[in-house]
Amino acid sequence: MNTVSVDPRILERFKRLVASSRMGHAYLFVGPKETGKTQTALGVAQLVNCESSEAAPCGICPSCQKIASRNHPDVMVVNQNEGSIKIDQIRSLLGRLQLKAYEAKTKVFIIRDVENMTLEAANSLLKTLEEPASNTLMILTTATPESNLDTIRSRCHVVKFFPVSKNRLQETLNVSPDVARLLTVYTDGCLGQSRILLEEDFISRKNKILDAFLKSSNEDALKKLSSEKEEAREALHVFLSMVRDAILFKSGVAAIELMHVDRLLDVQSLAGRPYEELAAIYNQVIKTKQLLDENLNAKMGFSILRQRIWQN
Ligand SMILES: [Zn+2]
Repeated sequence: MNTVSVDPRILERFKRLVASSRMGHAYLFVGPKETGKTQTALGVAQLVNCESSEAAPCGICPSCQKIASRNHPDVMVVNQNEGSIKIDQIRSLLGRLQLKAYEAKTKVFIIRDVENMTLEAANSLLKTLEEPASNTLMILTTATPESNLDTIRSRCHVVKFFPVSKNRLQETLNVSPDVARLLTVYTDGCLGQSRILLEEDFISRKNKILDAFLKSSNEDALKKLSSEKEEAREALHVFLSMVRDAILFKSGVAAIELMHVDRLLDVQSLAGRPYEELAAIYNQVIKTKQLLDENLNAKMGFSILRQRIWQN
């Protein structure tokens, strides 16, 4: 039941802090997007409120369940949907802070992506971070440690999150080593994004994309891919990873290290081409991506790319 992207190592650290009564009152979770910061914060909220004395967070007691389903009256998550955090939201949080807990042992306030706080909102929070209310835990998260957060950072214990390893992704998402390797490289180790891709049946989607590039010299398949911006972006990202595989394979990297092990014949066939051709294809993918990023028409880019692949 316990949500899948809790970082187990960090949760273990919190268990030790709780066991030795060294728990602080304000933490800043710093790490790239989708590395489990919010889920781990909820895991810590479960830990400090669990009704089990031996196995906290047990995941099954009423408190743990309410937190997992985001229905606990004393566990508040500010900024669920990434946006700027305005002073009104912080004021409402500070109001809740004054109230007695409904049922929790420790009230937990999770503020996501604090880099998006307005200066006014950040300032209104400082005093609370300095002088905490009793039985209250604040957990702030941010993906951009270098942003203007010094005043907040200096008042919190900083906990660092890192992209996940292939093994942890494999274990957490319960996938084969091949799929784990593909997702780890494709998402730069973002567990959350990997889970979404799996749910969206990304594996068969990426294979359709590869087919469109490699199986037919007919222009229509690529035209279809390039007609919608986000689809076009994904198609290029997927195909780039394929060209990368081919270049690696050509330079002697073992098949087992590749992203597209399920398309080994295609990797081999692409790798059979001279380096200059692979480089030309690679560069054209990059150029086409740039066109998309600059909101320019990428159709011509796709068309040249097709010529580079099929040499016509
Ligand atoms: Zn529990």
